[in-house]
Parts: sequence; structure tokens; C-alpha cells
Amino acid sequence: MYRIRFHGRGGQGMKTASRVLGTAFFQEAFQVQDAPRYGAERRGAPIFAYVRASRTAINERGVINHPDLVAIADDSLISAPAAGVLQGIGPRTVMLINSHESPETWQHRLNLDNTILIVPAEDAVTDRADLPFAGMVCAGAAARLVGVIGREALATAIREELHTHGSGLVDRNIETALHTYDLMQDHANAVTEGTEISAKSYASPQWIELPLENAGSAAPSIHAAATSTLLKTGLWRTMRPVIDYDHCSHCWWVCSTFCPDSAIRVNEEGVPEIDYDHCKGCLICVAKCPPHAIEAIPENAAKAREEKAHATKTPDR
Ligand code: SF4
Ligand code: SF4
Repeated sequence: MYRIRFHGRGGQGMKTASRVLGTAFFQEAFQVQDAPRYGAERRGAPIFAYVRASRTAINERGVINHPDLVAIADDSLISAPAAGVLQGIGPRTVMLINSHESPETWQHRLNLDNTILIVPAEDAVTDRADLPFAGMVCAGAAARLVGVIGREALATAIREELHTHGSGLVDRNIETALHTYDLMQDHANAVTEGTEISAKSYASPQWIELPLENAGSAAPSIHAAATSTLLKTGLWRTMRPVIDYDHCSHCWWVCSTFCPDSAIRVNEEGVPEIDYDHCKGCLICVAKCPPHAIEAIPENAAKAREEKAHATKTPDR
């Protein structure tokens, strides 16, 4: 059985990628499961989707814990523990990463000997949640890596899954998927089927192990109020709202009231301050600020700006 996990951010098309790959397997007479798992309710937040495909009946259920292939649409998720990208990977798991970095760089960073393959990421994207066709890039590459899906089955699957979006978009998705399919030609069959797990080998446990988590964040709110502050949802952000205090008119209530996460507080001088640990980057404040004093900038550009400011402040030793 093939077990494949797609990781990306809401908006990058990973659910569609899993549906396309599942349908392509189905075209090749496999039995298939595909399903998405959403972590949060907004664009840009980590999500994953998974596909099982087998020539025989599939009795496994639930998320895939030990994948044969992990396809990652956005390499910024790899270092985010909440995204769970590296969960359950074993020595034979192939990793496919949409990235500017080389396989060797990722092997070194992750200290892994696994096969790591790269699909070259787009150069200029302002908002990472807009990575164009990222899902289709991963679906096309995955189809080639398993070595049992033909070009026609892949194209038919895309037509079936996307036909409601019009022929122009379908054609562009087919072109993108087939382009990456061809790019992976030298690695066809790199992903092999994992071993079947027989239901007969299942032994019911004598006890149930509950994973221990930090009680500060895991305890039900009835026993520990305000635990949500411990979850740093700022990790989901792909665009950062930045207040230009020269233009802020200190109207004090607009941005802080409209922020759905209460991530903007107004200090005693009436100045708004954004809590970047908990701002999810929905950018409602940018749209609502009357004098347009809040700018949205890509998260990586904001980090570079911070580093530069820090470097100019730090005196030479
Ligand atoms: S982008 Fe603005 S409105 Fe949205 S969570 Fe962040 S501070 Fe709040
Ligand atoms: S809404 Fe705009 S002008 Fe008003 S306090 Fe917030 S940033 Fe300043």
C-alpha cells in the first residue's frame, strides 16, 4: 500500500492535490482513500492531506502515521512543530520539498539520510499562501515518484477534479502537473509501497497510553483559564501587519475592536500595539484602519527588516 502525506498552508491547494492523486490512482485501478485534515480555520495555517492507495481492499483508517512519501508545498513549514511535517518519517520515507534550497542542504539541516527531492519553488511570491499551483506541482511530482500512474491518468484526474473551474484553469493545472511529472522522470519508482499491516496482528493493549503534555496548555479551560495564550498562533502568519505610527491617528478602537484574535492592545497612551505571538495575519486590521496606517508585508521580508534594524543597533565588539 502507498501512504502519502501532503503538507502545505491553507490556500496552497494541498487538499486538491490529494484528491487529484487519489483519482489518478483510481484511474489506474487502485483502491483509494484521500482526506484532508485542517488544523485551523484560515488561509495560511498549516494543513495536511493524505492518500492511501492499494491494489487490495484498504482496511486502515485515520491519518497516516508512517508515510512512504511526504510532499511539502512550503518549506517554511518544516521548522514549524505544529505542522507535523516530520512526524513518523522512517529511513525509507521519501521527502519532496518545494524549495529554493538543495537536497543536500535539507539533509544537513534535518540530519536525515532519506531521499530528498526538490521541485524548484517560484521566485517571486508576496504571500506564501498564494504559492501558485503548489498543490498541482506536488501532485504531478508524487504521481511520477510512485511510478504506477501514467500521464493520461494524471490529466484525466485533474479534469475530473477541476472541471467546474473552467477549461482555461484546467489546462494550466494539467500543464503544471505534467511539467513536474516530467521533471521527476529520473526518480520514477523512488517511492515504494509500505508493508501491509495485518489486522490479525493487532493485539489489544492492556492499558491506554495518554500522551503527556504541558499541563499549562493541555489542561481543560475549566481548570486552567486563558490557556489559549500559550498557543502561539502567530506561527500561522504569512503576511505581517505593521503599524506606521507616523500615520496612526490613535483612533484607538478600530483596529483593536476588529481584530478577531484580540491581538491588538491599546496602551495607556492610547497607542495600538500588535501582539505578534498571537496575530494570525488575517489582515482585517489593514482593511479597517481609517487612515490606512497599517501595512501588510510578507513575513520573511519583515524578519529581514528586523534583523537589519537589530544589526544597526548592535555595536561592533
Ligand atoms: S492581522 Fe490584524 S486583525 Fe488579523 S490577527 Fe493580526 S492584528 Fe488581528
Ligand atoms: S485603526 Fe489605524 S489609526 Fe486607528 S489606532 Fe489602529 S492603526 Fe491607529
